[in-house]
Amino acid sequence: MSLGYEDPVKPPPVAETRSTPSGNSGTPRRVSVLGATGSIGQSTLDLIGRTPEAFEVIALTANTNARELAGLARRHRARLAVLADPAGYAELKSLLAGSGIEAAAGEDALVAAATLPADCVVAAIVGAAGLRPTFAAVAQGRRVALANKECLVTAGHVFMAAVAAAGTELLPVDSEHSAAFQALGSADLADVERITLTASGGPFRTWPKERIAAATREQALQHPNWSMGPKITIDSATLMNKGLELIEAFYLFPVGVDRLDVVVHPQSIIHCLVSYRDGSVLAQLANPDMRTPIALSLSYPARMSAPTPPLDLVKLGSLTFEAPDLERFPALGLARAALERGGGAPAVFNAANEIAVAAFLERRIGFLDIATTVATSLDRAEGESLFRAPRSLADVLAADEAARAVARNVIGTG
Ligand code: NDP
Repeated sequence: MSLGYEDPVKPPPVAETRSTPSGNSGTPRRVSVLGATGSIGQSTLDLIGRTPEAFEVIALTANTNARELAGLARRHRARLAVLADPAGYAELKSLLAGSGIEAAAGEDALVAAATLPADCVVAAIVGAAGLRPTFAAVAQGRRVALANKECLVTAGHVFMAAVAAAGTELLPVDSEHSAAFQALGSADLADVERITLTASGGPFRTWPKERIAAATREQALQHPNWSMGPKITIDSATLMNKGLELIEAFYLFPVGVDRLDVVVHPQSIIHCLVSYRDGSVLAQLANPDMRTPIALSLSYPARMSAPTPPLDLVKLGSLTFEAPDLERFPALGLARAALERGGGAPAVFNAANEIAVAAFLERRIGFLDIATTVATSLDRAEGESLFRAPRSLADVLAADEAARAVARNVIGTG
């Protein structure tokens, strides 16, 4: 695809040398943030802004938000700022005039930004739109701090094969997977009996089904513990997010679907527990602030400071746990079924959910219709043989597109 601008993406010259991985000393670590204007992107840049001497910001990207992107690029002295949506190019270019920061736009520019030499690429674009740039970053064989769930959910085997082929260091940003990564350490997976992801239960945890059925957009966007982007906040309310995380965990920590579990833990203090065959259970605890797992992905194997409030166990008093209610929150059961079905089923699950969440946010469907749309889409997609295992990114993108069409049809907008 040609950009068609007088100023196409010319990646600025960046030294090819690898900098010393260090949180606070040595050569600054070069970081690019894909999805810089989002919740994860802003948290990442907040951390970087607290120790600017430890980092050098290479590329920042957004979809349409030229003003925010330009502000972040100026504040963090990025080399390149890229909008996925070409319509915002002129605005971005004029906002960056005189700064020495290059501006670019379009999907190819996004992919080019992901491949600029950097020590760490933070993959924080929301949705399947993050696939191409994240795959491109992975192919560089450096570190990818992975927030974008969809790479694993829609393209699991293909993505992990690309990671292995390029020798990429993949660090999970999702708090549960960062916790599992830490609790697993260098353990032999054969010694692991169970990996238990925790779920807050979302804003409707205690609501009866009739009340959930009438839940509004505003109510669903009120997460009790975490501050996140709108799509993942809705996914947390349906528990679809925990389903997506179950699928992520399946690919990141290949212990088998039978050894992956979910428990509802309303305080969101324990993020994941790893049970070993000798009876030991290792867990990672922290107050719910995404800057803690992001910090680890930026500074690993060292630790860097994050402004997360320290954990005060006495003040907390108690931590509670309950089993997820699959009757009121069917999404988790759908995710497990998609995972067990394998092949393209998780990709269909994800695509149908993205379409359904967008429809809910636009007030075109009700809250419970989100899970129903996903369930019906999975049924219909199987009939259309969309469950074939993808072998390449192209296969994944084609399946994603086809699954979206199925879901739009289910909702009645196809
Ligand atoms: P947000 O919606 O807050 O931000 C999304 C970012 O992606 C923005 O920078 C947005 O740009 C950009 N973007 C959106 N659409 C496109 C597109 N089509 N092409 C290129 N860029 C695009 O999302 P979050 O930060 O909440 O989540 C990002 C990812 O991290 C998701 O996959 C989510 O599941 C995952 N995650 C998030 C957590 C959280 O706490 N937020 C926790 C764990 C995982 P613009 O501003 O211009 O729209």
